[in-house]
Amino acid sequence: MELNERQEWIVSIVKENGPITGEKIAEKLSLTRATLRPDLAILTMSGFLDARPRVGYYYTGKTGGQLFNERMKKLTVKEFQSIPVVVNESASVYDAICTMFLEDVGTLFVVNKKAHLVGILSRKDLLRASMGKQDLEAVPISIIMTRMPNVTTCKPSDSMLEVANKLISKQIDGLPVVREVKENDTTVHELIGRVTKTNITKAFVYLANNDIHA
Ligand code: ADP
Repeated sequence: MELNERQEWIVSIVKENGPITGEKIAEKLSLTRATLRPDLAILTMSGFLDARPRVGYYYTGKTGGQLFNERMKKLTVKEFQSIPVVVNESASVYDAICTMFLEDVGTLFVVNKKAHLVGILSRKDLLRASMGKQDLEAVPISIIMTRMPNVTTCKPSDSMLEVANKLISKQIDGLPVVREVKENDTTVHELIGRVTKTNITKAFVYLANNDIHA
C-alpha cells in the first residue's frame, strides 16, 4: 500500500514519539485533530499504527510486505465463493455436457437426491467419455466422475490462500465449498458453494484495489 506524504509524516512522528495522542500529532503538524482523523483511520486499519485508549498511537513495526501478507490470509472462501452448478448423479454424460455449456462453468458438482455432494466432473472427464463411440445418453456420469471421498473440498471459513495451495498441489481448477453434517453416524457433505481459479483471481484483484479494507 502506498502512503501519501502526510501519512508518511504521521508514521515517522509516531515512530519517534509513540505512544502519542492524536492531538499531539496534529500539533506537531500544525493541523487540527479532525483533519488528521481519516489518515489515522487508514493507518490503523491498514496495520501500520495501533491505538490504545488513553495511551495514544504507537508504531507496530510491520513492513508493507508483512501487512499485505496478513491481509491476504484474512480473505476467506465465504467472501468470494460462487453459486455451485450441480447435476444429479443419475444424469447421463450427454446431460452433463449440456449443463456445462448452458451454465458456462468448467466444473460440475454431482449430488444425490438429498443434495449431498457425491462427486465432481471436469471438462476433460466429459471429453474423455466422449472419445469413444458409445451413446452419451446411455453413459451415466456416476461411472466417470471423481467420487467422494476422493474429492478435495473446502469450508466457508478457509482462507483463499489455503484454496490456492490446494488447487496448485492437486492440479485442479476448483473446489466445492461444503458443510460437513453427521447423519446416522456417517458424515455427509452439504454443498454450499464453488470456488475456482476465477474466484482466486477476483480475490487477487480485490486485494490490489482495496488493500486498506481487506
Ligand atoms: P480439467 O480436467 O478440465 O483440466 P481439472 O484439472 O479441474 O479440470 O480436473 C482434473 C481431474 O481432477 C478430473 O478428473 C476431475 O474429475 C478431477 N477433479 C477436479 N476437481 C477436483 C476436486 N476438487 N477434487 C478431486 N478431484 C477433482
